[in-house]
Amino acid sequence: EAEVASRLEHTDRLASMGELAAGLAHEIRNPLAGIQSVLELLREDLESDTNKVELCDDVLNELGRVNQTLSLLLSSTRPSAPRLTDTDLNQLLDSVRVLLEPGLRRRRVALELRVAPDLGEVRLDALKIRQILVNLINNAAEAMQDGGQITVRAGAFPDREGVIISVADDGPGVPGEQLERIFEPFFTTKLTGTGLGLAIAKSQVEQHGGSLEVESEVGKGTVFFVLLPAPAAEAGPSESNLPSS
Ligand code: ADP
Ligand code: MG
Repeated sequence: EAEVASRLEHTDRLASMGELAAGLAHEIRNPLAGIQSVLELLREDLESDTNKVELCDDVLNELGRVNQTLSLLLSSTRPSAPRLTDTDLNQLLDSVRVLLEPGLRRRRVALELRVAPDLGEVRLDALKIRQILVNLINNAAEAMQDGGQITVRAGAFPDREGVIISVADDGPGVPGEQLERIFEPFFTTKLTGTGLGLAIAKSQVEQHGGSLEVESEVGKGTVFFVLLPAPAAEAGPSESNLPSS
């Protein structure tokens, strides 16, 4: 189990590195575009001085290269199309617990998992959903100064064509004027926050064909709802039912 935990921690670190890289790339891009257009203007005024025009062209070329690198970085961290597999949400949530438990214990936060007994396996992108839940649970834990309780519930829509996973905390809640903005990229109330966790989570849920919603009451707590189209797994033996070799 320790090996699983360290492997999961590694993918988690990679995911937040991706978050950070995407954030940095965005931040660098705007001033860079400004610098490029000013240089282009200056270059027009320098037409008579070929040496200076050449210098300008060199700098513009270099800036072009930086821009290319940023595009590459952004495209490699951009979320990809979902890869659906038959997934047991009990197992998925357990793996999230294994990953987060040490950190939660340090913050004196209790994590309760409640999967509806009749849920069975559902088809979804397990890695993505896992990453989204890690983000939501970490946010909840970070919001609670003096410990608290996080409850993750999973169940099927009445028609079984989808699942709903909720992450509830009894933390401080989010005031109304902030609640409107929490899904915006770079919106953060934390000193060292990226403000990208919820923005990326929302776009990943939407790429999955679902939606991410929030309800919050100051002084009571916050609940995030991940609503996913996730049909029940195909009948017949699935991989996880086969004896492992
Ligand atoms: P970050 O965690 O880097 O600040 P996020 O996009 O993950 O960025 O979250 C944005 C903001 O939403 C947080 O800074 C916090 O103010 C607020 N927030 C998110 N989840 C919760 C929660 N469970 N309870 C209270 N506030 C929250
Ligand atoms: Mg966050």
